[in-house]
Amino acid sequence: MSSDTTATSFTASFDELGLIPPLLARLTDLEYQQPTPIQAQAIPSVLAGRDLIAGANTGSGKTATFALPLLQQIHADKQSNVTNTRDGNYVAGLILVPTRELAMQVADSIRSYAVHFNGAIKTVAVFGGVSVNAQMQALRGGTDILVATPGRLLDLISSNAIKLDRVKTLVLDEADRMLSLGFTEELSALLALTPKQKQILLFSATFPEQVRALTAELLNDPVEIQVQSADASTLVQRVFTVNKGEKTVVLADLIKKNEWRQALVFVNSKNGCEHLAYKLSKHDITAEVFHGDKGQGARSRVLEGFKAGEIEVLIATDIAARGLDIEKLPVVINFDLPRSPADYMHRIGRSGRAGEVGLALSLIDYEDYHHFKIIEKKNKIWLEREQVAGFEVDEAADELAATFLANEKAMAPPAGAGKNGGKKKPKKNLKSKSSINTDIWSGYSEPE
Ligand code: AMP
Repeated sequence: MSSDTTATSFTASFDELGLIPPLLARLTDLEYQQPTPIQAQAIPSVLAGRDLIAGANTGSGKTATFALPLLQQIHADKQSNVTNTRDGNYVAGLILVPTRELAMQVADSIRSYAVHFNGAIKTVAVFGGVSVNAQMQALRGGTDILVATPGRLLDLISSNAIKLDRVKTLVLDEADRMLSLGFTEELSALLALTPKQKQILLFSATFPEQVRALTAELLNDPVEIQVQSADASTLVQRVFTVNKGEKTVVLADLIKKNEWRQALVFVNSKNGCEHLAYKLSKHDITAEVFHGDKGQGARSRVLEGFKAGEIEVLIATDIAARGLDIEKLPVVINFDLPRSPADYMHRIGRSGRAGEVGLALSLIDYEDYHHFKIIEKKNKIWLEREQVAGFEVDEAADELAATFLANEKAMAPPAGAGKNGGKKKPKKNLKSKSSINTDIWSGYSEPE
């Protein structure tokens, strides 16, 4: 495996990356002054047809990193009539993403980058939760680029709306999530339908070890680029210890005192979202909720409203944790800690994007102390514990934390019972045929 790291020098202008005039013109329109580090390092390799594993912070310009070379390749193929996706329901560039909102966002970005091809390159997004008919209609006559969530794509394939036999480039955005348990079967089924010879690009802010091992069998001599962008320093992380039962009042106090333009608050369950919104309303704070039980229409409206700055406080589950690009979001707050340390990085990455200043706050009570330490350890961060003035933590909190941890240990399954405490795992997880199988995301509650 070739490996480029942060130490690699990178080109300072888009011109030098080998991009063609219609793309360069668009980057000028968009006032992108220079490539981000991941763009500078990865675009030449992708243009050269190499497989890629790219690890970079969220908000570091990953979409353009795959979209620009993909558009350039498709344009070249069209000029030389190498592939024709339009003589049947075929697709040349397939991008798989974990959530509906990300599918829409990535497709919109690609269409934007493709403006100067004057409609010659077709991009379609397909995802669940909405009627399939319009998507079937959009796929009629094939498409050059398809951005899809796996479940809906499989449905469309089974109704012959699209075929993957001519895929030349496959992109897994939020790749660690796509290679994780919740998508195992769907991803294996999709991979089996693509040609053996193809370029594969994996992008994610986090690549836990288990996933890294799986990539070896998927990719062909990939270039590996790991950029810990300087953007990381524009995001300030803080953690506040609070008394058990006081998170809501502390949150309300923080929101009122800080007068943030907007805040994105993460909780771990759909009910938790509704409950917290209700409790904040008692403090005269209006919040909208964003979770998997809401219909797609409502989800889109809420997200658009938040992106447009019309909604000030959004309470969301982890369906909002990945990839969403909310311009100048000042603060992300972990009301509940994410179960997975990787999700911590994805959540906080909604703020401080593209070099903007950002803030990530976590509220922890004594039951969270131990789990937050694990999050810090896995993500190689250490944050000073702070308190919110007026809500100082009871002195007994440390003792309570120790007792809580001891009780947790006492309730742990006996040695030999397996990590499920002797309980059978749900059958769905067992019937995976593929070796793409890892348990690191078992806490993730809401795919798509
Ligand atoms: P992404 O990581 O792809 O979600 O991109 C994050 C944000 O950065 C998006 O709003 C992009 O439009 C923006 N962006 C991407 N590349 C650049 C660049 N080279 N210069 C300025 N902004 C960029």
